[in-house]
Amino acid sequence: MHDECGVVGITSTENLPLKIYYALYALQHRGQESAGIATYNDRMKLRRGMGLVPEVFTEEDLNSLEGNKGIGHVRYSTSGESKIESSQPLMVTHQKGRLALAHNGHITNSREIRQELEEDGHVFSTGNDTEIMAHLISKYLIKTDDIVTALERSKEKLKGSYAITILIKDKIIGLRDPHGIKPLCYGKHKNGYIIASESAALDTIEAELIGDVEPGEIIVLENQDLKSYKTKQKQKAHCFFEHVYFARPDSIMDGKSNYKCRLQIGKKLGEKYPVPDADLVSPVPDSGITFAIGYSETSGLKYAESLMKNRYVGRTFIMPNQGMREDAVRLKLNAVKPNVKDKEIVLVDDSVVRGTTSKRIIKLLKKAGAKKVHLRVGAPKIISTCHLGIDMANKDQLIAHNSTTEQIKQKIGADSLKYIKINEMLDAMNLNQNELCLGCLNEKYPIKKQDNKTLQTKIKQK
Ligand code: SF4
Repeated sequence: MHDECGVVGITSTENLPLKIYYALYALQHRGQESAGIATYNDRMKLRRGMGLVPEVFTEEDLNSLEGNKGIGHVRYSTSGESKIESSQPLMVTHQKGRLALAHNGHITNSREIRQELEEDGHVFSTGNDTEIMAHLISKYLIKTDDIVTALERSKEKLKGSYAITILIKDKIIGLRDPHGIKPLCYGKHKNGYIIASESAALDTIEAELIGDVEPGEIIVLENQDLKSYKTKQKQKAHCFFEHVYFARPDSIMDGKSNYKCRLQIGKKLGEKYPVPDADLVSPVPDSGITFAIGYSETSGLKYAESLMKNRYVGRTFIMPNQGMREDAVRLKLNAVKPNVKDKEIVLVDDSVVRGTTSKRIIKLLKKAGAKKVHLRVGAPKIISTCHLGIDMANKDQLIAHNSTTEQIKQKIGADSLKYIKINEMLDAMNLNQNELCLGCLNEKYPIKKQDNKTLQTKIKQK
C-alpha cells in the first residue's frame, strides 16, 4: 500500500525556500518519487526533480528560488506516469498570469472534465489529474478574476479527493475537498503562515498548529493575513488510514494524535485478543511499534524486539529474481535470536494487505527457532480497493477480499490471527464512523467509483 502525496504552502516576510524544503523533508514519507518547490518574488520560479527531497534540491537551487511565498510537493503517483513532467508543483500559464498547484488526492471524474476542457481548446501535456485541476481553476480565474470564486466553481465540478496548495502572484491558497478525505492543516510561524498535509511539517519550522482546514474550506494567505472561506460541507469522510498507517505518528489530525490512536488500538488488541501463554510481544518494525507497545500495556506481556530492520535498504534496492525474494526479506529484516529461539511470540503489525510480507516474516521467525507466532493486526480486514488516492493491490490480490480469517491464518502460516474489528478500532480512537471514510473496509465510499463504461456513454452523449 502506498501513500499518495504531501503538500505545503508558506508565506513569510523573509526569504523562505529553506522553510519549504524543511517542511517537505517532514512530509517525505508521503511520496518519494519526486519533489518540487514553486516560489514567487517578482516572478514565479519552479524547481522540480525525481527522487527524494535532499536529492532534488541543491543549496544553489534553494538560493535561486528566492521568494517570500511558495508551495511545495512530494509525490507518489496514483495517476499519471512516474516522470518529471508529472512531478509537482504543476505550473500553468494563462491569459492573466501563472498559477502553480500542488495536489494530494485523486479526481474520479477527471476524464470527463478533461474532455470538456479539450472541447474548450485546452491542451494537456500529461495524464495527470493535477493538470486538469490547474486548467479548470485557471479557466474560472480568467472569467472571474477572483481565486475564491474560481475555486468555488471548480469545487462544483470536481469529484474525488483533494487537498491542494496554490500559488498565484500575490497569494497562497489551501483547499480541502468537501468530504475532507485527504488531510490538510494550517498554522502560524514567527513571520507568516503555513498550510501543510500534516502538522509534523509545521513543527519543523516551529509553527503553531491552528487547526485542520475544514472539509470544503478555502484558506487564503495574502500580505501576512489569513482569510477563511467556508461553505456548507458534505458528510465528512476523512480517510481512517491516515490515523493508523499513512500519516506520521507525531502528527495531529482532526484534533487527534496519531500516536495515541495507534497506542489505543494496540491496547484494545491486547485487551480483546490476548495470548496468555506467549513469552513476549514484538512489533513488525517500524509500523507496528506503537501498536505493540499498547498491546504490551494491556496484556501484561513483555515488549521485546524480535526483528531488526536494516534502515539502509533504500528505494533503489535491486531484487534480481523471484527465487531471491527470501534473501531480500532477510536483507531488510533479521531475527533477534535471543528473543525468538524457543519463544512464543505475539507479532503486531499495523495492517495486512496481500499477506505476502506477513507470510515471509512469519517464515523467517520460525526458521530462527520461534515456537509459535500469533499475528495481531491494528487495521481491520481490507476487503476492497481505494479509488480515492491510495495505491493498493487489485481486489483479487487483497488477501481478505475472499478469504476468511481462518483461511488467511493458514495461508500466512500464523499460529493464530486476529484483526481489530471496525467498531473496536473506532472505539479505541474515539472517532465517529460518520466522520470517516472506511470504504476499503466496508465498501461504503463517500464518492462512487466512475466506471469506464458509464464514462464512455456520458462522453458519447455530449
Ligand atoms: S477507501 Fe480506504 S484508503 Fe481509500 S480513502 Fe477510504 S479509507 Fe482511505
